[in-house]
Amino acid sequence: MSENKPLSDNWQLALVNSEHPLPKGYSVQLKKISKTHQVDERIADIAIAMIEDAKDNGVDLLICSSYRSVSRQQELLDDEIDKHITAGRTNDEALAEATLGLALPGHSEHNTGLALDIVTPNHQILDRGFEETEAFSWLDKNAYKYGFILRYPKGKTPITKIKYEPWHYRFVGREHATIIKEKSITLEEYLVELKENTKTTK
Ligand code: ZN
Repeated sequence: MSENKPLSDNWQLALVNSEHPLPKGYSVQLKKISKTHQVDERIADIAIAMIEDAKDNGVDLLICSSYRSVSRQQELLDDEIDKHITAGRTNDEALAEATLGLALPGHSEHNTGLALDIVTPNHQILDRGFEETEAFSWLDKNAYKYGFILRYPKGKTPITKIKYEPWHYRFVGREHATIIKEKSITLEEYLVELKENTKTTK
């Protein structure tokens, strides 16, 4: 890692959220981690290792979402907006509700190839109930060891602008994940801390 580069330039810490879109021309080298899922090639082996280690511990992790192109993101969002409009919402209301659970195209971590939605065979719905599963307990205890953080924790919606998602894990590298986990903070908060630390050590 180059010392001259600010840490925020580190690919592992790329911030993609409602305010920060994927940088223009962002390209990702993809690698398959299963028949239907691919991620940034730099995290493929570690993602596979995490799933295999969980299995060795009797825990079945099931990936239900991985890399997603920006155009696919648009399709998903359009479908979600349609659902809310059909349910009687205005266009603005439908967009607001849809974007609480789905990011705008280019604003989803799934567009980076660094995020995974993980469930388990006996609980494949993306809801809070996933929290009650063995798979969640295992991830809660171990994901950081592989460099993954729970990206949208409970009670952090004002910061992340995304509702609590016990199934969404983001790769940031083991070193960063360990600190984020220990401090129970979000990537947004961590990046602010890093910036402040850089300032004070200068
Ligand atoms: Zn996700």
